[in-house]
Amino acid sequence: MKSVIVLFGKPGAGKGTRLSEFLEGKEEQFDVLSVGTLLKKVRMKQTELSQKATSYMDSDKLVPDDIINAIVIEELKAAEKPVFIDGFPRTVAQAEAMLGAGIYPIVIEFYIDDDLLLARSSNRIVCPSCGEPYTLTGFKLPKKKGFCDKCGTALIKRLDDCEQVVLNRLKVYQKETYPILDVLAKANVQIYTINNSSPELARAQFAELLNSL
Ligand code: AMP
Repeated sequence: MKSVIVLFGKPGAGKGTRLSEFLEGKEEQFDVLSVGTLLKKVRMKQTELSQKATSYMDSDKLVPDDIINAIVIEELKAAEKPVFIDGFPRTVAQAEAMLGAGIYPIVIEFYIDDDLLLARSSNRIVCPSCGEPYTLTGFKLPKKKGFCDKCGTALIKRLDDCEQVVLNRLKVYQKETYPILDVLAKANVQIYTINNSSPELARAQFAELLNSL
C-alpha cells in the first residue's frame, strides 16, 4: 500500500479545487479517490448495495459506515501510487475502521470560515457535463455567460450549493466529521492545517507542504 493523503475539511471548503490545481501535469504520479464521485458511479449499478447507498445520498444523509468502509478501504489498500482521498473518513467509526485496517494517513485539513463558505457556494455555478466550476461574479466568469468554456454545456447551480443544504451539511460536519481530528491526533497521525480563506496563499502552502513530504 502506498501513502494515503486525506483531504479533510467542511464540504465546499475547496479541497477538490486545490487538489486539481496541484495535480496539473502530475496526474500520472498520484491516484485520487473522491468518495462522492465513487458513490455516483455506484449509483449507476443496479445492486442491492447501490440502491441502499443511493437512498441515503438522495436524502442528503451520510451513507452508513459499513457500506462506505467496504467500498473505500479495499480501494485504498489496492492503491499502487500515493493516493489522495477526498470525502473519507467522515465519521469517527470510519476513521477507526481505517486505522484498524492499518491505514495511517497524512491528513491535510482545509480551514474556511462558515460565512465565507456560504458566500462562495452561493456564487458558484458548475458545468453538469465536465464538472468545471465557475463563479457568477468575480474571478472565474465563463467567457460566454452561462456556458462552459471547455465543452459549451449550459452551466447550472448545484442543488448542494443552496443555502439550506449548505447549512445542513455544515451541521453534520461539525457533529459527525470534525471530532475525527481528535481520534487521529490521539493515534499520532500527522495533521497539517491550511487556511483556505485566501486561495492564493492556500495554493502555495499546499504545494509547499506536498513537496516537503
Ligand atoms: P460529496 O460529493 O463528497 O459531498 O458526497 C455526496 C454524498 O455522498 C454525501 O451527501 C453522502 O450522502 C455520501 N458520502 C460521501 N462520502 C461519504 C462518507 N465518507 N460517508 C458517508 N457518506 C458519504
